[in-house]
Amino acid sequence: PQVYAAPGAEGSVVSYKPRYDHFIGGRYVPPAEGQYFDDITPVTGKPFTEMARGTAKDVDAAVEAGWKAFPSWSRTSPAERALMLTRIADRMEANLEAIAVAETWENGKPVRETLAADIPLAIDHFRYFAGALRAQEGGVSEIDHDTIAYHFHEPLGVVGQIIPWNFPILMATWKLAPALAAGNCVVLKPAEQTPASIHLLLDLIKDLIPAGVLNIVNGFGFEAGAPLASHPRIRKIAFTGETTTGRLIMQYASENLIPVTLELGGKSPNIFFEDVAREHDAFYEKAQEGFSFFALNQGEVCTCPSRALVAKSIYDGFVGDGVERVKRIKQGNPLDVSTMIGAQASNDQLEKILSYMDIGTQGGAKLLTGGERADLGGDLTGGYYVQPTIFEGTNDMRIFQEEIFGPVLALTSFDGFDDAISIANDTLYGLGAGVWSRDGSQLYRAGRAIEAGRVWCNTYHQYPAHAAFGGYKQSGIGRENHKMMLDHYQQTKNLLVSY
Ligand code: NAD
Repeated sequence: PQVYAAPGAEGSVVSYKPRYDHFIGGRYVPPAEGQYFDDITPVTGKPFTEMARGTAKDVDAAVEAGWKAFPSWSRTSPAERALMLTRIADRMEANLEAIAVAETWENGKPVRETLAADIPLAIDHFRYFAGALRAQEGGVSEIDHDTIAYHFHEPLGVVGQIIPWNFPILMATWKLAPALAAGNCVVLKPAEQTPASIHLLLDLIKDLIPAGVLNIVNGFGFEAGAPLASHPRIRKIAFTGETTTGRLIMQYASENLIPVTLELGGKSPNIFFEDVAREHDAFYEKAQEGFSFFALNQGEVCTCPSRALVAKSIYDGFVGDGVERVKRIKQGNPLDVSTMIGAQASNDQLEKILSYMDIGTQGGAKLLTGGERADLGGDLTGGYYVQPTIFEGTNDMRIFQEEIFGPVLALTSFDGFDDAISIANDTLYGLGAGVWSRDGSQLYRAGRAIEAGRVWCNTYHQYPAHAAFGGYKQSGIGRENHKMMLDHYQQTKNLLVSY
């Protein structure tokens, strides 16, 4: 269809339960304290279901269920676990539309993205780790003629995973696929803004997963997330979210001396060198599209190219074309397949972004387009829509240094290669970066000089399962994706045998 029916309306491919409990030990369990909270769709700003409000008692039960399942799950063969991941992927593929519409309804992102990118990528992650697991091998070292060291991979045990609201299913998959492949049991806490799409997915796949191997506790950060991250019986905590929360997670983890994976915030530079504008050809158009990518997913992407650095010599023409392009991006009902920008995920996020509009203007930046909340009329009037916005300024301004997590671009110019790299690296963060040039050597030099875990060269916003992803500096610790993640969810057992 051109426009998917809203969940609850006639003809919708999604139907929610009126309330969702925790999922512990293979069944739905009501919250120990008996409390629920509203789940609101940013499309209209109205509640559509309610979720169990988790506390430490629920986390205890989930960790306990994980340990109960662990002895038999950890002894399954790689082939068995790989088969389960493959079956999950197949089940997701068969239900692609329902999962995509659910993700859109709860997060506000356009259904064209969830159908074509978010959910297919999540499916591919399950398949990738099924394959990576089958290809994993141990090691044998000859110590001397009579002594051999064998190296085995063993799972960690029960691990905790805490995820954000910007790509709920994809972020859950990045953590679940390697953890389950490696033979761990998981307690996952979705973001309080977006738990329902994960439960909808769970309903589709739960018969494929042995009881207790995957447990889900809903709830808020301090009430359910903190007891999970500080639980004495988890063996690792993997977290994606804000840098400030990441610091707390590391403190909790230090109590129990467990490893952390932290995927945190960013303020990614997107650099356009002079030769980009040498001709107005297909490459130029591609670079222009790269310029507009700050608005993708409403800017709610940890790697959002939220700072554009454009060479002085081409600045006026390139930026002029870029601003016109951004004005043409279609904003609208996220359930309409032609919509390119939808709603921000929550009212808090909307207000945070609007406050940065003031911070930008008051800090002396010049507004080139946007700058306001968007009223799309009808049912969408209560939704959380923001115009794609471009500010021109300098890198010392707050809007260039602080993560806004909205469709707001901070734009500046540079004078030569060294100036570009120096501005790009003048940030606390180091997650993503983009470099655009027709000169391969320049791309390489810039890519190596930028302090970021992922530098896209002549492309942006691609997240294949087999490319390592993660942050330098205050953007995080550890990596996700790529087969190296199996190591992050395993420990090495060494048997030293004297024959
Ligand atoms: P957030 O830190 O507010 O929340 C993330 C998760 O942590 C939620 O589930 C929340 O309930 C939980 N949480 C909050 N306080 C907690 C606490 N004290 N103890 C335990 N858990 C707690 O982040 P957010 O606003 O949901 O997500 C946006 C942020 O995530 C942005 O900064 C973005 O850059 C980052 N992000 C990073 C990546 C990456 O891979 N590096 C990917 C996506 C998002």
